[in-house]
Amino acid sequence: MNFNIAVIPGDGIGPEVIMETIQVLEKVGKIFNHKFAFTEVLAGGCAIDAQGEILPEETLDVCKESDAVLLGALGGPKWDNLPGEKRPEKALLTLRKALGLYANIRPAIMYNELKDACPLKPEIIGDGIDICVVRELTGGIYFGEKGRKNGKMGEEAYDVKQYSEVEVERIAKTAFEIARKRNSRVTSVDKANVLESSRLWRSVVEKVAKDYPDVYLNHMYVDNAAMQLVRDPGQFDVILTTNMFGDILSDEASMITGSIGMLPSASLGEDNKGMYEPIHGSAPDIAGQDKANPIATILSAAMMLRYSFDLEEEAAAIEKAISEVLKNNYRTGDIMSKDMKLVGTKEMGKLILEQIGG
Ligand code: NAD
Repeated sequence: MNFNIAVIPGDGIGPEVIMETIQVLEKVGKIFNHKFAFTEVLAGGCAIDAQGEILPEETLDVCKESDAVLLGALGGPKWDNLPGEKRPEKALLTLRKALGLYANIRPAIMYNELKDACPLKPEIIGDGIDICVVRELTGGIYFGEKGRKNGKMGEEAYDVKQYSEVEVERIAKTAFEIARKRNSRVTSVDKANVLESSRLWRSVVEKVAKDYPDVYLNHMYVDNAAMQLVRDPGQFDVILTTNMFGDILSDEASMITGSIGMLPSASLGEDNKGMYEPIHGSAPDIAGQDKANPIATILSAAMMLRYSFDLEEEAAAIEKAISEVLKNNYRTGDIMSKDMKLVGTKEMGKLILEQIGG
């Protein structure tokens, strides 16, 4: 099959990790007989330097026309003090909005080989951690009405948290579909004891659940969920939640797995269109030194194969190759521990390519 992929390498370590990822995709294409066509475009600090804009029109057009977008990382100290409209976060928000990406999927997987990097006690980790946070991405308090006014006690500020049935229904469906491909459990996280928007959330999730009798659903208040994640992470399979709760819980879930250099993410919209990126930033402290861990970006590409292109076997082949490389004790600096073999970005990419075979 043929697929068009828009590639945004971005800044800092972005181009380094993207280069390894493209090689992996090319190899997978060769072995499984697919053609991936890559169109490289600019966004972030490098786009400001080249064209004066954080997200040039051409980039947006190419992303809209492609089947999926693969992104490295945007930003860095050189551009950190620019006004809000020119900050890298703005480019990401604009891209998500323009592509209609309403579902953010962040798996937090702890590999057995990296147990040492987990800040939790071994008896809490148990057989390992494998959680997938499904976060609503284009609604809720981050996009609600906001403003300031003079109140009885002086200046006041407000941010409105608002959800429509349609918004909740589509993200709930995404979560249930993903649960079906995993361990068939969804925990919907809200604050229905206090918030009206959460009560609507809960009732819509229950309605959607009726179409998925094979998936077990439970509800949890967000304060309890934050606690349960560090008390007994093994109880979670898919966590379904709102934009702001998901922002916080997905960071917490990532943290307990140990390394930022290992974690991928996907943002999905209608008809499987998606943007795939590692959760880490541009890591300016190690950029250009062949030290970055490319695994988070390579795993993001595996998610792209699974969720946008429906190529499960190909995605699994990448994930298995990464597991094998870790089993063989190869590590980049961020996941290095005693008696392991230290490798750089390029070597790590090459080892993964070798494991994929072909
Ligand atoms: P960061 O994720 O770039 O780095 C945090 C720490 O983790 C650093 O010590 C870095 O060396 C390390 N690290 C990150 N990724 C790594 C990898 N793949 N391999 C090995 N080590 C890795 O976060 P930060 O330092 O807060 O931000 C740096 C810049 O990135 C800022 O300009 C920020 O705005 C931008 N940023 C961009 C994105 C994005 O594009 N999605 C996300 C977060 C931050």
